[in-house]
Amino acid sequence: MQWQPLQRLLVSAIEENRHYRSERNVTLKLDNPYPESQVRVDGQRLQQVMANLLSNAVKFSPQGGDVHIFVQRQPHRIVVNVKDEGPGIPEAFKPRIFNKFAQVDASDARAKGGTGLGLAITKELVEHMEGKMGFHSEEGMGSCFWFSLPLHPSETESAFDEHGASNGTVLVIEDDPSVLRVLQEILLTAGYKVDTAINGAMALEKLAIHRYDAVTVDIGLPDMSGFDVIHSLREQQATSHTPVLVVTGSVDRGQVALEGHLEDIAWLAKPIQTPHLLALLREQMQANQKRLSLLHIEDDPDLHAVIRTMLSKHADCDQAVSLAMARRFLLKRSYDAIILDIGLPDGEGWELLEQIRYSQPNARVVILSGQSISEADQHRVETVFLKSRISPAQLLEAIKQRTQLAQMVNNE
Ligand code: ADP
Repeated sequence: MQWQPLQRLLVSAIEENRHYRSERNVTLKLDNPYPESQVRVDGQRLQQVMANLLSNAVKFSPQGGDVHIFVQRQPHRIVVNVKDEGPGIPEAFKPRIFNKFAQVDASDARAKGGTGLGLAITKELVEHMEGKMGFHSEEGMGSCFWFSLPLHPSETESAFDEHGASNGTVLVIEDDPSVLRVLQEILLTAGYKVDTAINGAMALEKLAIHRYDAVTVDIGLPDMSGFDVIHSLREQQATSHTPVLVVTGSVDRGQVALEGHLEDIAWLAKPIQTPHLLALLREQMQANQKRLSLLHIEDDPDLHAVIRTMLSKHADCDQAVSLAMARRFLLKRSYDAIILDIGLPDGEGWELLEQIRYSQPNARVVILSGQSISEADQHRVETVFLKSRISPAQLLEAIKQRTQLAQMVNNE
């Protein structure tokens, strides 16, 4: 099995099966809009699959008919269709078509040749290559047999970028290239975006710059232990609650080493079982989603520290000390609430309001200002407080009222 361009395989399949078509003057037409696409297959077996589908299609085509070989793409898969203009598959025969020795008509064997084994074997070959196989056909309207194969991870990713759909971004920290590839493929196929780091230093660098929805980490990294990565991850405010999945060959030893320090991480033993990996990841990410995310736009570090500490049980709080920094945060992630100071070093907090409403339509805006606010301006946001007249407790109360925090705190 190896990655290779599908186009080359299809072209050579058509070449090799030329003798079938000349008998009946059938034209084979190839339409592949994705000539760059790669599939991971055993080339010879794929040729066998194509030979069987092409020979059937030609065999059942009318004299001078066309056989269309066309390629389509789905988010994670590439689909090869072989469509003919023959008699189609009778309804009653459809459920049995992939059975061994199945033929619509025993006389087929005499009239058209064949054993009724071809499709059964073809389907097995396709499934062996992580593919799926099926067909659609209406009697009298021809048949279309198709098989699909997983797309190369790099192409899956770009498909996601185009449609903007993703379950979140996962940083995979792993030094073993084969494990890295397996994890990458599983996650991409499941609809995650994936970033990778092959050692601890690279991981910490990436974690400092980017925001990830989850992290998988190998314990035995070349430059440091995966535990070191987890510990420094937890020490940073921004990543203190990022879901972590430890992928390790030695679950018990690892767990002991971490005892008492970090309970909120999940463990996955190698060899990696896809459903288990995905279930753990989903679980971890859902638990994390219950936390609120706040952006505190404030240049006074003491006030920020007070607020962050008060809310730490329920919310992650980013701090921006200027308009410019706030703009960067607003582009990078979404918030449940934004606490906004008006007097900032590079301008007025109001200047952000338009961007907030545009990029964070669901966020509550709470103004916490050192200067008084006009009546008209007060109506532009959900709540306004003056720093001189409010205790941190009152602010907490306001944010609680304004967000789901209210429910969570009241439920306790
Ligand atoms: P065979 O060696 O008989 O071709 P297959 O497993 O390839 O065995 O096909 C099984 C039967 O399915 C065929 O005998 C035929 O009745 C039906 N069949 C397969 N492909 C087509 C097609 N393209 N159009 C119509 N019937 C088909």
